[in-house]
Order: sequence, then C-alpha cells, then structure tokens
Amino acid sequence: MSTSIPVDETVIAEAATRLGDGGLVAFPTETVYGLGADARNDEAVARIFAAKERPRFNPLIVHVADRSAAEVFGAFTDNSRAIADHFWPGPLTLVLPCRPDCGLSLLVSAGLDTVALRVPAHPLAQELLARFAGPVAAPSANRAGEISPTRAVHVTDSLGDAVGLVLDGGDCIVGLESTVLDLCGARPAILRHGAITREQLERRLGDIEDASIPEAETAPRSPGQIARHYAPKIPIRIDATDPRADEAYAAFGDPGANDAAATLSLSPSGDVIEAAARLFATLRALDRSEFAGIAVAPIPDVGIGRAVNDRLRRATAAHAD
Ligand code: AMP
Ligand code: MG
Repeated sequence: MSTSIPVDETVIAEAATRLGDGGLVAFPTETVYGLGADARNDEAVARIFAAKERPRFNPLIVHVADRSAAEVFGAFTDNSRAIADHFWPGPLTLVLPCRPDCGLSLLVSAGLDTVALRVPAHPLAQELLARFAGPVAAPSANRAGEISPTRAVHVTDSLGDAVGLVLDGGDCIVGLESTVLDLCGARPAILRHGAITREQLERRLGDIEDASIPEAETAPRSPGQIARHYAPKIPIRIDATDPRADEAYAAFGDPGANDAAATLSLSPSGDVIEAAARLFATLRALDRSEFAGIAVAPIPDVGIGRAVNDRLRRATAAHAD
C-alpha cells in the first residue's frame, strides 16, 4: 500500500534509504509532485516508466540539492552557471551537455548526450536531496496521460500501489511545470514553457529561441539543435529472430546459438523492465561501424515493453530515408 504520512526526519531518512535501494519515492516540489528514483540506477529509472505506464521513453529531469551537485553531471559554462545561480533553487530546468562518465543511467536522458538538471525550492525536496546526497530522476507523479499532481492525494489516486512512499508536503505553490531551457546550442532555447517566463530569462540571456513546439517526432536532429531522440548510427532491424553474420544481435532472453557477429541480451531472464533498463546501453555497445546493423529480437509488447518497442521503431525510422 502507498502511505502518505506526516513528514519528519525519520520519514525523510526512510525515503532516502528507499531511493538508495532502487525504490520509488514521490515527493513535492514547488511545481508538481515528482516520482523519484536514483538517477544512476537503470532498473530504478525503468521502474518510473513502468509505474507511470509511459508509452515512450522521454528524457527525465534530474533533481539535485544545489549547483555544485549539478556540476557533477552537467558541463556548465560561466553563462549557464550565472543562470543557475540566479534561478536556483526554483522552477527552472537547464539542459546542458552531460559530463562523460558522470554515472547517470542512459535511460534518464533517453540515450542523449545532454542532461536536464534542476534544483527544486520546496523544503521537503531540499531535505530529501540533501539526505540522499545523489541525483534523483523524477517526472510528474501521475499515470501517463493524466494531469500532473499538485497534492499528495492526487499521487495516490493516480498511481495507487505503484509508488511505495509519498512525502506529503501539502499543496504545490506553483502548480505548473518547470520551464525547460536548453543551453547546449549557440542560442538558448525554451523547450517547455513553465513557471519562469521567457521575459525573465531574456532579461539575462538576450534573445531566446522558442523551441517548445515539437518538430516531427522522428526528426533525429535539426541544424543547430540538439537531437531530440537517440538513434544508433548503424541501421536497426526489429523483430529479428535470425541475425545475419554481419549484424550485431540484441537478444531478449537466452540468445541461443546464432550467426551474429556479436550478441548481447537485453534481458537474459526475459524481463521487460530489465530490457528497458539496459536498452540504451546495449544499443550503444553494439553501435559500431564494423557491423552492418543491429538486429533486435522481438520484445513482448506489454507493460514497459511498449515503450521499448516505441523507441526501437523510432530508431528504425531514423534510417528510413
Ligand atoms: P517531465 O518528465 O514530464 O517532467 O518532462 C521533462 C521535460 O524535460 C520534457 O519536456 C523533456 O523533453 C525535457 N527534457 C528532459 N531531459 C532533456 C534532455 N536531455 N534534452 C532535452 N529535453 C529534456
Ligand atoms: Mg507530466
């Protein structure tokens, strides 16, 4: 059963322990309630997608206690540092180049080389992040397609038993999502409008591009913009049961004997959550020019398997023209 109880030091400690053990914790921020997991733990992050029943892997915001904690994951410039120091803690998310080997799960950024970072202002979020002392990946704590929760009871109503612990911090003051600002390109771009306005940001940054209207879902990269979706450089062939000798094979379950030049299993035990957790790391490991392509075994189209298949289809489409 989900529990929503008054929050004291003991509850914060329990929440931090749960995160450390790979569990999910819902917590209030000043924008909406987030569904958090250790952003370094592939399986924990996969559980977020499973709990939300999200049909696709969009990148998640990584929450940290302060700017110095954010520096471990994002590559800051003097400019982005100044923006962070002005607006953090607060409802602004910064998309920055990810530091190589920063230890974040690839599932957090959906395989991209960027990371979305935020320091929330809500005191309970602050306490949890300080206590956990690690990065917490968190989308809004609601089932996919439902509106974002601004009260603890909304979280339990929407997610039920899928989240073990909900920290009840009362009503969210802002009640609107954080603004997402992309600082990776030559020109700053708003990816999502939110609590911090474009005018507030333009006062410090000058002219900002409005990139909040999504381009065609499959467009892998438009000039001057970061890639919206990760896709391997070599072609992908899905639902493949017969990998060829010049292909790499991403199997599901026991790969058995096959002709592939290299084989990795997305989940040796045939578990869709494990396959989700390993998806991006496996594709990256097999994305080598010595192979003609990556053949991917059929993945059961159930639960989080749907999001895996969605991402594989998009990766296939990226090579279709
Ligand atoms: P939600 O998970 O609903 O809080 O939404 C997170 C928002 O941040 C979405 O609009 C994402 O597209 C955006 N986002 C998160 N990480 C990245 C990233 N690495 N690059 C671009 N956008 C991101
Ligand atoms: Mg949401």
